Amino acid sequence: MNRAATEGVPLCDIAGQNAALAEEIEAALRRVIRSGQVILGPEVSALEAEVAAFCGVRHAVACSSGTDALVLALHALGIGPGDEVIVPTFTFFATAGAVCRVGATPVFADIDPSTFQIDPADVVRRLTPRSRAIIPVHLFGQSCDMAAIRAIAEEHTLYIVEDAAQAFGARYDHQPCGSLGHAAALSFYPTKNLGALGDAGMVLTDQDGLARRMRALRVHGSEVRYYHREIGYNMRLDALQAAVLRVKLRQVPQWLEQRRQAAQRYDAGIAAAGLRHFLTPPVVHPRCDHTFNQYVVRVPPAHRDPLVQFLRNQQIGVEIYYPLCLHQQECFRPLGYRRGDFPQAEAAAACVLALPMFPGITPAQQQRVLDACAAYVAAHAPALRPAAAA
Ligand SMILES: *Cc1c(COP(=O)(O)O)cnc(C)c1O
Repeated sequence: MNRAATEGVPLCDIAGQNAALAEEIEAALRRVIRSGQVILGPEVSALEAEVAAFCGVRHAVACSSGTDALVLALHALGIGPGDEVIVPTFTFFATAGAVCRVGATPVFADIDPSTFQIDPADVVRRLTPRSRAIIPVHLFGQSCDMAAIRAIAEEHTLYIVEDAAQAFGARYDHQPCGSLGHAAALSFYPTKNLGALGDAGMVLTDQDGLARRMRALRVHGSEVRYYHREIGYNMRLDALQAAVLRVKLRQVPQWLEQRRQAAQRYDAGIAAAGLRHFLTPPVVHPRCDHTFNQYVVRVPPAHRDPLVQFLRNQQIGVEIYYPLCLHQQECFRPLGYRRGDFPQAEAAAACVLALPMFPGITPAQQQRVLDACAAYVAAHAPALRPAAAA
């Protein structure tokens, strides 16, 4: 057997990405070390200007993480105790955690079963007189149905805070994600489309007053040092992270193209292997430029967890985003939701599977993943074997 047919395939490859840029990254780090300016300062301001230009917004406020970016945006918009914020129940925990951090209440909404994105029709059903904002999460790297979300927000006077943590570089109707609401949160967690060498995040907005308040909240609510108009946080970004992010930002367009090509190869490979009735490829909405931060397929629920084990046993990195909806999380039990409240999200949690996906993934690695899936089907789900091979 050749090597490619037996080697493992990682879920993502952060070390490989760093290695390819090692010289530039190390030069950037040395520049910061020599400067002595290690928190905020010119590197962070330069990153803010570059990301603002990339996303087509007036202001970018760098901060300590994507989670903190959500907190900054919600706090600066004046959202707090007594307010409700509508969020999808099928997302990473931070989306709802940030709502609670500012003292507001997350109100969950179901998803569109084809794209996994928040379902605008369900958002409307969840509105109450206390609703103040919607957080559309551009899950897996694809935009939500922003035309519908914006129409709802306008009609009911709600703020839109985009959670664009997974969708840096994605577009909706050719407009960048992050420029489609009142404010947007980006995460530079290492696995995201633009990843730091640690935690980092950013808030985007076109509104001058909002940007100014977020800048103050980031440093304990002070605009003039040691004078505090309100109580804020320590949510500053390190210059080392900013310097690395500036190096990586230049690669993002190329990386996104590589992700898209890899997604097309998976789509074609699944069809060619006759696996389409076992692995359902992700649906790309016609108004969206998907960035495939994750390539998430659907698997028949009875086979999902056994397939995960089977692939992991062969050193194939797969992950389940997310195995449990937020309305079913222990910490949200006091909110009173029950199993069955969000049927589409619960069904998604039982069938999703993220395959290895990163900019440098090779066709051979992808074939290895699909061959392993085909081997699983042959051994454990023969009824689902492709017609041609039956
Ligand atoms: C990663 C992520 C976050 C949080 O970002 P951190 O930088 O890890 O705090 C928020 N929302 C979603 C959807 C994410 O995927």
